[in-house]
Formats: sequence, structure tokens, C-alpha cells
Amino acid sequence: MTSRTATAAARATVYGYPRQGANRELKKAIEGYWKGRVTADELRAAAAELRRTNWRQLAEAGIDEVPAGDFSYYDHVLDTTVMVGAIPDRHRAAVETDALDGYFAMARGTQEVAPLEMTKWFDTNYHYLVPELGPDTVFTADSAKQVAELKEALALGLAARPVLVGPVTYLLLAKPAPGMAVGFDPLTLLDRLLPVYAEVLADLRAAGAEWVQLDEPALVQDRSPAELNAAERAYRELGGLTDRPKLLLASYFDRLGDAMPLLAKAPVEGLALDFTEAAVANLDALAAVGGLPGKRLVAGVVNGRNIWVNDLEKSLSLLGTLLGLADRVDVAASCSLLHVPIDTATERDIEPQILRWLSFARQKTTEIVTLAKGLAQGTGTITAELAANRADLASRANSPLTYDPAVRTRAAAVTAADARRSRPYAERAAAQHARLGLPLLPTTTIGSFPQTGELRTARADLRAGRLDTAGYEERVKAEIQEVISFQEKAGLDVLVHGEAERNDMVQYFAEQLTGYLATRHGWVQSYGTRYVRPPVLAGDLSRPEPMTVRWTTYAQSLTARPVKGMLTGPVTMLAWSFVRDDQPLADTARQVALALRDEVNDLEAAGTSVIQVDEPALRETLPLRAADHAAYLAWATEAFRLTTAGVRPDTQIHTHMCYAEFGDIVQAIDDLDADVISLEAARSRMQVARELAAHGYPREAGPGVYDIHSPRVPSTEETVGLLRTGLRAIPAERLWVNPDCGLKTRAWPETRASLENLVAAARTVRDEL
Ligand code: GLN
Ligand code: ZN
Repeated sequence: MTSRTATAAARATVYGYPRQGANRELKKAIEGYWKGRVTADELRAAAAELRRTNWRQLAEAGIDEVPAGDFSYYDHVLDTTVMVGAIPDRHRAAVETDALDGYFAMARGTQEVAPLEMTKWFDTNYHYLVPELGPDTVFTADSAKQVAELKEALALGLAARPVLVGPVTYLLLAKPAPGMAVGFDPLTLLDRLLPVYAEVLADLRAAGAEWVQLDEPALVQDRSPAELNAAERAYRELGGLTDRPKLLLASYFDRLGDAMPLLAKAPVEGLALDFTEAAVANLDALAAVGGLPGKRLVAGVVNGRNIWVNDLEKSLSLLGTLLGLADRVDVAASCSLLHVPIDTATERDIEPQILRWLSFARQKTTEIVTLAKGLAQGTGTITAELAANRADLASRANSPLTYDPAVRTRAAAVTAADARRSRPYAERAAAQHARLGLPLLPTTTIGSFPQTGELRTARADLRAGRLDTAGYEERVKAEIQEVISFQEKAGLDVLVHGEAERNDMVQYFAEQLTGYLATRHGWVQSYGTRYVRPPVLAGDLSRPEPMTVRWTTYAQSLTARPVKGMLTGPVTMLAWSFVRDDQPLADTARQVALALRDEVNDLEAAGTSVIQVDEPALRETLPLRAADHAAYLAWATEAFRLTTAGVRPDTQIHTHMCYAEFGDIVQAIDDLDADVISLEAARSRMQVARELAAHGYPREAGPGVYDIHSPRVPSTEETVGLLRTGLRAIPAERLWVNPDCGLKTRAWPETRASLENLVAAARTVRDEL
């Protein structure tokens, strides 16, 4: 390890910090404002207080340069839309009447106008509001928020660096405004956008910014030569401005690849690069372009997306290598700390020894400061920290939680045959049809039925000790009875128990699996005021006992029709958890698959003839670079098959996917070898059915005919129309009739009406066959 001293002292910095406050004060203030209980001034004051608290905390921890402007009432991409004046026409009046209400109207919509579309921020679980741009878009600079927040930070006596979404990423994340000619490319607006950025930069300089950070994470994705050209041009132009602060061009979430040479040459003063596992290639790429002579390198060596303690010695040695590649090396997290919870210190339910393996935003901040100190002043100045870190890493590596020999032995013994059904699909289909005796165009649902207020209250009462387990289970059973009796009356063919017992489709299983940890306050922003608390997949994974069997068998005992067993698949379990970083994801997926396989087999043994394994996240964890897709899809589809392949040929395996377009993963869907798949399709008018057909997908499929995202009840006629469309792509022998997704967010009245119409539509179309 190096103990070389950098010429200029390495500085510690971060790009962004969780916005919500230790007790989610921001959520409470904003939701209070929406309900009229909090005034605009009170909301602004609460937000300013949270910003000050964050800055003070960062400064006290030893962060030399704090971020400014990363705060948001809802989303930083929406803030950028406001900054560049790209307000959609339909929201303009509202924004002009009241900027704050107009802002929330763009985010959430109103009775009269639809909100901006929301989608995932790269491969994280954070969602941003998609800019809507068209050939007529006029940009105007509005630097008020950025300038005000910078001044707040400067007023605390801190060195602050405003952080903005860069112009190229902003345009690449945008989509054509509704009604725009298809084929409009937002990137063509670059020349119009750059002067607006120039104005904002000048304003920030005038307000006292020495540096401004421009985030260009879109450049870690595969980019066409034209897109790379645009990036080159953008930074040549911004770099060439005379009235501007120093520019720090930041990227994260993956390697820069082809963009590295042009960014390294760009006339900016600094680059911030991700050097975590996912982006190690940045190191060689940086060396290959001759480093960054004369520039500042901000090295993202502390993972900003996971919750594990950093390996400080490893990071120091990496930083030592980087010292040879730039004029000055500063230390940072790989990306904004927005994606991790705030503080491990509030976790009282996790054993102290295990808690020391975890690192949330506050702990990461300390790691960054320690690394900067070690880099600047020599490792001799941080010996105590290094020793403690070494001990924590050793305790993690040697813990029975992370190393369970039985789980390892079982995973190592998996053969290709374990991940293959015993008979080919055609034979299975015949056996399943004989066993189930379903009509053509069988009807079913995706699993959950409305999660009523009483159910949530019952769960809260159980937690608070106001209701005992027996009492709670009686409530759940009563709900199952109601769900089964409704489905029978409505005439559905394959029933579900309704998932009344589940708080969440991942957490429910995580709570019952050994190897998972639950946090009490580990909230991270999903979108707006919605926060999720992902469980931590910390160790070797096993299933002490069946997790769902008694609910499914109870439901089956109430009806002669088949009741579908319902599980969350291995890839989705990983996607919606914090996963361990001490072994390849593929190994973790295999362990989860084996635990779920036992559940699948137990369901079958208990008489369940149809078992659904949901994988809504299969598409969303696809790596950012196409070169990495094949490796990911190989282990992901294997994990699904390993989960499901242990059943008899006449047991029907279903899967379900939603939240995405699937056109580019049809081969992977095929590779799952599920007997039946249900997919979200209603809003795209069965697009996915055509994609499956074009691929020659040979198995049964249920493209959704009921958009469950809104309370609207689709009519029978409308559903008949969608089914006829579906039949043009998928033959009647292989077409299922189902909604787009589960019904847990819906209320009973529209659920009843919609499903009755769905059954009526299936019958109408059946009669036409
Ligand atoms: N079975 C789950 C449900 O119906 C599926 C949810 C999902 O796809 N997100 O709620
Ligand atoms: Zn779904």
C-alpha cells in the first residue's frame, strides 16, 4: 500500500445526500402541504432546516466540499426541467399561478392535467419525471433554486459545489412531448439548451461557486457516435465559456467506455469517475488515455448504492494508483448517497457486531473522510480506523450468517439437469390440460386483491401487540374466504388466494428466510414522497420452513377450482433488496432460487396444480451496457428455472412481468421455460403479444387486458376488442385472459366490476371461436 503524499491535500466530498431527514420529516411536510395542513412557508422552512442539518452533518464529519442543489421537493430531474424552463404547455398556467403548486402538478397531475411520466433512474430504484420536449420547446434559464441553495450553504461558511444534471443526460432522458411527430430526437435541442446552461453557470459563479458539478450518467450507457459527438460538442462549448465556474464532469453507475477519451480531453477542470466494482474498467480506460494531467480527479471509491462497509485498504491502494493519473485526487462516493439510508446508528434490531458491517450515508461519509486523510497524510494517520475496518471485514467473512456450509454444499452440487423441467413444454402442456380441464381463453388474476384498510390496521395491531397471531390469522382467513367466493361467483377459472397476508412481495419472503436482515429505519426514496425499506440480503440464504403453503392450501380447501400458488422470483428478490457484495450476484441468485424451489415443491406436494413465480424485475436489472446483458440473463433465467424445474410435468408454472417493455428480452422470457406468462399490455394495446409472436414464442401467454394503474373500469366491449387483437398474435389454445398486474392498490368496487367485465369478455370471445 502506498503512503505517498499527494501534493495538494486530497479533499473529501459527496455528490448528494438523502433528502428526507432522519425521521422522514420532508415526507411529512410535503404530504401535509398537499393536504392543506402545512403552509407553503412552513414547508419551505422545514426544507431549509433539513438542508442545513445535512450540511452541518457533512461538515462535522469532515467533508471538505459539500454538494448544493441536490435537495429536491420531489425529483432532481424535475428541478432541472424547471431550471431550463421546459414546462409542458399543459402545466404552464399552473406554474405561472403558483410555482410550488405548479411544480407538484407536474409531478403528480391534477384533476384536469396528467403529470409527467415517471421512470427509473438508470438501474436504481429511484424514479425521475421524464422531461417532455418537442421541436417547439423554448428553454429559458431559471437558476433561482440553485443560486438560493448555494447561498444557504455558503452562509454556513462551507465550501459548496452546486450539482446539476448535465445537458446531455437531460436530453437523453427526455422523450418527445405527447403528440410530437414520432422520431423527434430531443438531442437535436442541444444547441438551444447550452446557452441556458451557460446562463445558469454564470449565475452560480456570481453567487460564489468556485466549482459546479455536471452529472452525465447517461454517458455510461451504450451511446451512438452521434450522441458521443453531441457530448463532446457540449463540453467544448461549456468549457470554452469565459464567465463560468470550474467544471467537474461526473459520471457513475458504470464505466465510461467510449466516452472516456472524449471526456478526458474535454476543456473542463475536473472529472468525477466511478471506481467501484461495476466500473473498475474506468481505471484501465483512464490510464489508456494518459490520465488527467492538469486536472482534478474525484474518485468514487466508496460505493454509493450498496450498504456495505468499505474495504479501506483496498480503496487506499486504488487511490494510490490514481495519484499517478491526475494532478489532484479527491475522494467521494461513487454516486449520490440518495440511494442509501441515512444512519446505521438508529438500527436497534440488528446485532451490534453485524451492524458494523453496514454503512449508510453517515458511515460512508466517514469512510470518505478517512480515505482522504490517509491519502493526504499517509496511512500512518489512520491506523486505528484501518485496524477496526480490518476487524469488521474479517468478522463478516467468518460469520456463520455469511457462510453456511450446508447452503454452500447444496449450491455447489446444482447440475444443469436441476434447472431443466423433466419433460419438454409440449408434453407438459398436454398433461396440464388433462389435469386442469380449463376452457379456451382461461381467466385468472395476477395474485393480489385489494389490500383494504382493515387488513393494514390488523397488521399494525399485530405489530403493536393489540392483536395476537391467532386473531390476525383469522382476519387473513376471512379475507381469503371473501376473495375466493368473489372469484367463484365472477366465474374466474384459475383462482388466487389474494395475498392478504403480504405487506410487500419481497419483504414478506425476506422476513421468513434466513440470511436476510430487516432494517427499522432504512428508508430510501423511490419517488416523490414514497420511500421503500429494502431488506438486506446479508448472508447465505435458506428457508427454515414453508412460507406460503398454509395460505394457499387454506384457499384451495374452499373451492373445487384450481388455486394458484404465488411466489416472488429470485431475480426480483435480489432487485428489490440490498444485496451482498462479497460474492457474485449469480451465486446469491442461486441460493435464493434453491430456497424458493423448496417452497415450489412443497406447494406441489400439498396439491397445488398451478404455481406462479413473479419476476416483474427481470427487465429492470438488465445491466446498463449491452455487452453485459448475456451474462446477466444467463444467471437470471437459470435462477428462475432452478426455482421452478423441480415440479411434475402436469404442474403448471406461471410467471408474471410488468413495469417495462419486453421487446428486447423475449429470448430471455422464452428461456424461463414457464408454461404460462402474464404480462402488462393493456396500455400498449397488446404490443407484447405481437412481440412474442414475432419471436415464435411457443408457450401460453396472458397479455394484460385490464390496466390496474387507475380506478377506471374497462368495459366488456373494450376488453373484447383487446382479446381479438391478442388473438391475431397468439392462437386461442395459448391465450390467457388476465389483468396487467396485481390488484392490491385497487379498491373493491372497481375490482369487482372490472373482473366481471373481463370474464364476460372472455366468454364472448370464446363463443366466437
Ligand atoms: N403477485 C403480485 C401481485 O399480484 C405481483 C406484483 C407485481 O408484479 N409487482 O401483487
Ligand atoms: Zn405486475
